[in-house]
Parts: sequence; C-alpha cells; structure tokens
Amino acid sequence: MSTIAENIAKVRARIREAAQASQRDLTTVGLLAVSKTKPAAAIRQAHAAGLRDFGENYLQEALAKQTELTDLDLIWHFIGPIQSNKTKLIAEHFDWVHSVDRLKIAERLAAQRPANLPPLNICLQVNVSGEASKAGCQPDELNALAQAVTQLPQLHLRGLMTIPEPTEDPAAQHAALARLRELRDGLNLDLDTLSMGMSQDLEAAIDEGATWVRIGTALFGARDYGQAH
Ligand SMILES: *Cc1c(COP(=O)(O)O)cnc(C)c1O
Repeated sequence: MSTIAENIAKVRARIREAAQASQRDLTTVGLLAVSKTKPAAAIRQAHAAGLRDFGENYLQEALAKQTELTDLDLIWHFIGPIQSNKTKLIAEHFDWVHSVDRLKIAERLAAQRPANLPPLNICLQVNVSGEASKAGCQPDELNALAQAVTQLPQLHLRGLMTIPEPTEDPAAQHAALARLRELRDGLNLDLDTLSMGMSQDLEAAIDEGATWVRIGTALFGARDYGQAH
C-alpha cells in the first residue's frame, strides 16, 4: 500500500469511530481530500484508494491538476478565499464552492455558471471564532446572505462552512463547531451540509454534525509552501 492509501485507511477509521461514538450514520459523513500544494500524482493515488472528492484553495494550481487528471471521475471543491476576478473559472471548473462569504461573489458565480452544467453547490463560509483576520461572513450577516443566495439562478445553497480558530482543546473545538450547526438550524432553510472538521478536529466536527470533513495533512502529509505560494 502507498503511504497515501495507508493514511486514507487511518482517516477512514477515525471517521468510522467518531460516527459510531456520536451515533451518526457513517454514510452522512463525506471525506473531502484537501490536495492543495500536492501534485496530481497524489490525487491519482487517493483516487485509486477510492476517494472522489478533492478540495483545492488556489485556482491556477487546481486548474493545472484538473488538466492532468481529466481521465478520472473526480468531484472538485473550491475551498479557498475567492477574489472577484476568479469567479468565472471557478464557476466553470468546480462542482462545489465552500468559501462564499459575500453576495457579490455569489452573484458572479450565478451569472457565470454555464447553463449546460448543473447548479453549483454552495456553502456559505461563516467566521464563528470572531478573529479579525479570518475569512467568512459574520454570524449576524448570515441570514440576509443566505436568503439572497437562495434566490440566485444556477446555484444550489447546500449549507455552511467554517474554519475555526485552531485549538487542541476539545471543549473549544466543540463550542465553535456547535455554533455553525446552530446557525444552520436557525436559518430555517432546507440545508443538508455542514462543511467543518480538519485533520486536528474531525472527531469533534463529526460529533457536532459535520457532513464534509476537509482533510489535508492527515491524508497527504505536511504541506510545503516553499515554492508555489
Ligand atoms: C488546508 C485546508 C484544510 C485542510 O487542513 P488540514 O489541517 O491539513 O487537514 C481544510 N479546509 C480548508 C479550508 C483548508 O484551507
């Protein structure tokens, strides 16, 4: 087995145990492999080990890998910060966008999603930790944003996403992740998705209702930002 295949088996075991401990149906927890900074060959190995969903943060890097991997049946998720001038290519080349945090970006994605493709799956990114530097809309802006996004053509609002302040304290992990679930429930929209949980906090995330855990390091190893970014 490749290292990546071994890592996938370990992460799957963590997900399975967490789902069991939280009495959740395992089929409701998706594993999104975060492949940013990793080569197309790593995605190919992960695909061979059964993964289909891949998350990328940097548009040009993602497009280059997509070009190398057109022979595979992959589902592409954009999970990084979005500048306005990137929306057209994101709308054309991804199946999901997890990081929509303002209406202008949603409007551009809606207008630029090609008519021959299914609606783009959207999560609204929410800043649940209140750090000034982090992306994501504020909780008090969420309701207006969500209502507006549901009105846009060619988008399917699926749910919410968050990147909480990193902490190893399980109580603090739970508090931030529970907040996202409560915000979702408070919207009174038919939202089936909570994109939360990374390598460090996937157990807490599954316990709080995550439907996508976004896992990079635990699958592909530590990232080297030396050259590209
Ligand atoms: C990099 C990244 C991840 C993966 O984080 P790990 O700690 O490496 O598992 C998940 N979500 C987002 C939005 C990321 O940018």
